[in-house]
Amino acid sequence: MTKNRKLIWRIYPSFLLIIVVSLISVTGYTSNSIRKFFLNQSEKDLKTQAFLIEDKVSALLSPLDPKAIKELCNSLGKAVVTRITVILPDGKVVGDSDENPDFMDNHKNRPEISEALKGGVGSSIRYSGTLSQNMMYVAIPVKSGDNIDAVIRTSVPITSIEDELNAILKERLFWGILTALLASILALILSRRITRPVEEMRIGAEHYARGDLNYYLPIPDTLELASLAESMNDMASQLENRIKTIVNQRNEYEAVLSSMIEGVIAVDTQERILSINQAAMEMLAIDSVNLKHQSIQEMIRNSELQKQVAVTLSKKAPLEQDITVHHDSDRVLNLKSLPLFNADNLNIGALLVLNDVTRLRLLEDIRKDFVANVSHELKTPLTTIKGFVETLINGSLTENPDESLRFMKIISRHVDRLNAIIEDLLSLARIEKLDEKIETRLEQKEIRNVIETAIQLLQSKADEKNISLELDCDAELKVKIDRTLLEQAIVNLLDNAVKYSNESSQVRIEVGTDHAEMFISIHDQGPGIHKKHLPRLFERFYRADKARSRELGGTGLGLAIVKHIAQLHSGRVSVHTVQGKGSTFSIHLPNA
Ligand code: ADP
Repeated sequence: MTKNRKLIWRIYPSFLLIIVVSLISVTGYTSNSIRKFFLNQSEKDLKTQAFLIEDKVSALLSPLDPKAIKELCNSLGKAVVTRITVILPDGKVVGDSDENPDFMDNHKNRPEISEALKGGVGSSIRYSGTLSQNMMYVAIPVKSGDNIDAVIRTSVPITSIEDELNAILKERLFWGILTALLASILALILSRRITRPVEEMRIGAEHYARGDLNYYLPIPDTLELASLAESMNDMASQLENRIKTIVNQRNEYEAVLSSMIEGVIAVDTQERILSINQAAMEMLAIDSVNLKHQSIQEMIRNSELQKQVAVTLSKKAPLEQDITVHHDSDRVLNLKSLPLFNADNLNIGALLVLNDVTRLRLLEDIRKDFVANVSHELKTPLTTIKGFVETLINGSLTENPDESLRFMKIISRHVDRLNAIIEDLLSLARIEKLDEKIETRLEQKEIRNVIETAIQLLQSKADEKNISLELDCDAELKVKIDRTLLEQAIVNLLDNAVKYSNESSQVRIEVGTDHAEMFISIHDQGPGIHKKHLPRLFERFYRADKARSRELGGTGLGLAIVKHIAQLHSGRVSVHTVQGKGSTFSIHLPNA
């Protein structure tokens, strides 16, 4: 595995290597050239010196004057600081500026000498056994015609050249190191200049990775890096815009979801909750805050819902059913579930939509009961009427006039009953219709007046049973009412009180205020009502004592009408009763 290193530590050593290699090769090459130059120069000097003394030596060769040659070599050698040697063609040394020629070896085989003896200029660099040091030798032949009479050899110790070269090399080395140092500093600055923008981009990328998309990358002065930095800045701002859009969309989606009345739950194929809105949590009575990614089977303990989720996911088909949730009170929820598909038409889970239909179902039940009740209530007198009419048709009318008259009276009573039911039903329908425009019908009225009218209407009926009607009401008391409707409600309550009370009893009407309410209470001394009937007493057609009610011509709609009228006045009704002792029905109206 390659080790990750900083970019600068990849570039800088390369620069250094290039500098060092270039310096070494340049220094090596130039040193070599200088050395060559020096040696050539020295060789040329030696050759010149040899040629300069050629004539002098030639004069001493015929006849051969070894002594004079010896002296010449000594004097010349001292003058030019060059060793001068004269060698005869047989290799014998006859003169040498540095040594006694008598003690010197035969020089015939020295490479420069043998070259000169062939007629050319010989040269060589080698170790001198005589002087015990490296020497440069140049040898030229001394000719007379075609004959070679002797060889003049000039030589200098090579060490002096080497010393000079070394001095130059040392100087070069000093400047080389100085140049290398300067170059390495320059290389470092250059490397930093190259790597800094890249480093800045790395820092920028780290900011972006952390989500800090507002970070602005400085634009470097290099063309390629500048366009890269601009692209990265563009990318960051586009990314930020997209993220903002996504966040906004998610917020909108969540706002829509949480403000929906319908409960919405999305689950994945593993039955884990992807999202759930507030309405769904309330309907299912869940308080847990973090439901995301939790299993719906564990978090929502409702077997009907759990089963429907499983079936929807396995069948990938929509389903709908009403489920019951048992909490403080039972709630009926309509549960629609449908499979969720992504853009590639792959099933990614299911969507559940919950509607609280408790009230709707209750109303449906009430409606069904109402239709059944109306039918039943109407059918009973009709059946009776039909029976008596058929009997009359079959001959009773002519055969037995007294009986016929009795039958006709029964028929008439049942027709009245039918009439009463229809009247009450129409009243109810009218009151329900008034719901919207009641505000315009309400007027501030003295309540005593209204109650007195109702008493007048019931007085004769009360008198028949010797029931006294007593009123306890402040004459000044005013309240915002629809006079006709409230009168009807009071008549209904008074009618019931008279109807169900025993003879020679008392019915007392009391009007007063209690906190923010005004109440109209009708107390009777009748049979009272068993408490099991109380919750349903104000429903249409509900009767506590069916036989008695029918016998007394009741329709079962009187209290339902009272309740509706009270509600139209933004009020309510209540009943307080003790079996065998009497009942108190009250209308409570808000104090304007
Ligand atoms: P109905 O026409 O049968 O009187 P209501 O709606 O007026 O119908 O009353 C419903 C039932 O409540 C009656 O059938 C009766 O059993 C009972 N009820 C109403 N008022 C009284 C009362 N003052 N005393 C006893 N029972 C009453």
